[in-house]
Amino acid sequence: MICARHVFRCFKWLERMGDRFTGAAGPYFVGLAIILQTIGAASFFTVIQPNLPLPWLTTPPCLLIALNLFVHYYYVCTVPPGFVQDEPSQPGDSLLWASLSRTSPSSGVWWSNCGIILYTASTSQCRRCGMMRPERAHHCRICGRCVMKYDHHCPPFSGINQCVGLHNERHFVLFMAYLVLSTFWLSILGYSQALEALGLNFTNHWPYMVPQLAYILTYMLSVVLCISVFIMLSWHLWAVARGETSVEAQDHEVYKRIAKDRGDHFVNSYDLGKSTNLRLFFNVGRGGYPWYTLILPLRIMPYTDGCSWARREGLERHLGIQEGEELTDEDDNDDE
Ligand SMILES: [Zn+2]
Ligand SMILES: [Zn+2]
Repeated sequence: MICARHVFRCFKWLERMGDRFTGAAGPYFVGLAIILQTIGAASFFTVIQPNLPLPWLTTPPCLLIALNLFVHYYYVCTVPPGFVQDEPSQPGDSLLWASLSRTSPSSGVWWSNCGIILYTASTSQCRRCGMMRPERAHHCRICGRCVMKYDHHCPPFSGINQCVGLHNERHFVLFMAYLVLSTFWLSILGYSQALEALGLNFTNHWPYMVPQLAYILTYMLSVVLCISVFIMLSWHLWAVARGETSVEAQDHEVYKRIAKDRGDHFVNSYDLGKSTNLRLFFNVGRGGYPWYTLILPLRIMPYTDGCSWARREGLERHLGIQEGEELTDEDDNDDE
């Protein structure tokens, strides 16, 4: 038992050292991600795009996908995720911000007049940083702070290197969606040029600005990213559709087991049905922003300030889980 404890501590120490090392290298990974995206866009627009039919029809959507990719990447890396001690965010009034089609409060909770019931969040004190925080906030070990609607901390090698929470989770999901779209079209439409670059069509003809080797590597990376990010995106969208963050998806699996052992049934009170959960997450549709904010790279506010949450009618807490059984950040137990 003592041996297992030592091994556990050793792994935790290695994990913290790994975090420190990759944290220090974070800006280099971000720089690498920007370079790779730029090479990808240059490969598409100089090698593939000139060969597409009906350029007046095909160029605008390609430009829009590329613009969304770069802008959502910028937002997910730079918009603070919603640290508990930060001042409440306010929507901006520049052209980068979408405007609501109706009169709405400049902060706080929206949607409350659209048939969706919002309950004030319960609060608790973080045992690590000592901050009072609303429910769905978690302490990020790497940032050393509590984040509202904490989803996960994106590691530096992902090219993002920051927490994903209430204020940038939408940009994170949209960035993945546009990354899948752009790599998918590059993989499908750039297939014949990839054969050309590899010399497999026996023409030995390469009239493009991008070197053949750079194109081949970009093409291969695109195929790999398209498949892997599609899997991640699908998992995230599935969690969003069930009204869960990544952390909650794991916690709820434990709650379901606890409830089942007791002969009970766990009910996630944040789950308002798939379409409402998705509309709340992207904050579009009746009561939220216009649908075009999904295809234009604009900034918008989340539907809540993180101190109130939409719940199923009559449920102020989850069903099937009793007080004291909820998992906390301390269950991660890395201070032991
Ligand atoms: Zn904390
Ligand atoms: Zn973090």
